[in-house]
Amino acid sequence: MAASKLIVLGSVNADHVLQVDTFPRPGETVIGHGYQVLPGGKGANQAVAAARLGADIGFIACVGDDDFGHRMIERFNEDGMETSAVMAVEGLPTGIALIQIAASGENSISISAEANAALTPEVLAPHMTMLTQAETVLMQLESPFETIELAARTVRKAGGRVVLNPAPARALPDSLLAELDMITPNETEAEMLTGVGVETEADARKAADILHDKGVGVVLITLGEKGAYVSSSEGARLVEGYSVTAVDTTAAGDTFNGALVTALQQGKSMDDAILFAHAAAAISVTRLGAQPSIPRLEEVTVFMK
Ligand code: ATP
Repeated sequence: MAASKLIVLGSVNADHVLQVDTFPRPGETVIGHGYQVLPGGKGANQAVAAARLGADIGFIACVGDDDFGHRMIERFNEDGMETSAVMAVEGLPTGIALIQIAASGENSISISAEANAALTPEVLAPHMTMLTQAETVLMQLESPFETIELAARTVRKAGGRVVLNPAPARALPDSLLAELDMITPNETEAEMLTGVGVETEADARKAADILHDKGVGVVLITLGEKGAYVSSSEGARLVEGYSVTAVDTTAAGDTFNGALVTALQQGKSMDDAILFAHAAAAISVTRLGAQPSIPRLEEVTVFMK
């Protein structure tokens, strides 16, 4: 099989989703409804988005050796991705996320890595050629950190493009930032990385400049319904998103990232790629769940007309 041009390396989770009117305060119990277990995990969501939106994509991940994990591998195949490096780890459950969705559409999420923690550099070793042959590699921060660092170094050395969606939020060492061609934090993550609270366009510029100084070529800060701020050697600007009624924003960022790298990989300009990603993400927030909410290419094409 020919090597996939786009590789996503990341997590797979079973999302346990409960709808609540408002989030419980510490010590409080609230009554929820509509409990569902849905496919999620930032890596899987971004890989599924890329696959549904037409990318030639391979996924590197660990699932548990349980029903959910095996079912996920089947679904990834159905979505058309290359799954030879999606490994079922004996004796571990698939990663989980406990997600509460408030009536406002906001979410509150706790995760446990479980099988995702097994994606160590040693486990990655047999799949290194997928990374060295890729044109673009997209990662998030739900995988072991040393694996992310190794993958970034390897892809960079081989001449590929390294894109990091630095979620969930955490500080990152300069050594990793220096290996990134592009970083895509949301406002919270941008603040965690730079110490700059991002509320205005001027704040976004300040945060982006800090990341450029550490060696990141393209900084793209997603701003929820306000759109995204992009900064590179070609200049900086706000690219507005689409206005929709949000039902559940889970995986909005993931859909955006999967769509963005797919469009860039296919040769679209940065502005066109961002608009395409805005459209895909806007559709996803109108629906419940992570992967079930991710649209296919035809739907995005119609939405953008
Ligand atoms: P999440 O963690 O909820 O998946 P995120 O915090 O990583 O999302 P955001 O910055 O909230 O990422 O959103 C990413 C992109 O999704 C935005 O740039 C935009 O394209 C789209 N988006 C998010 N919320 C909305 C909304 N309410 N209406 C329209 N588009 C939205």
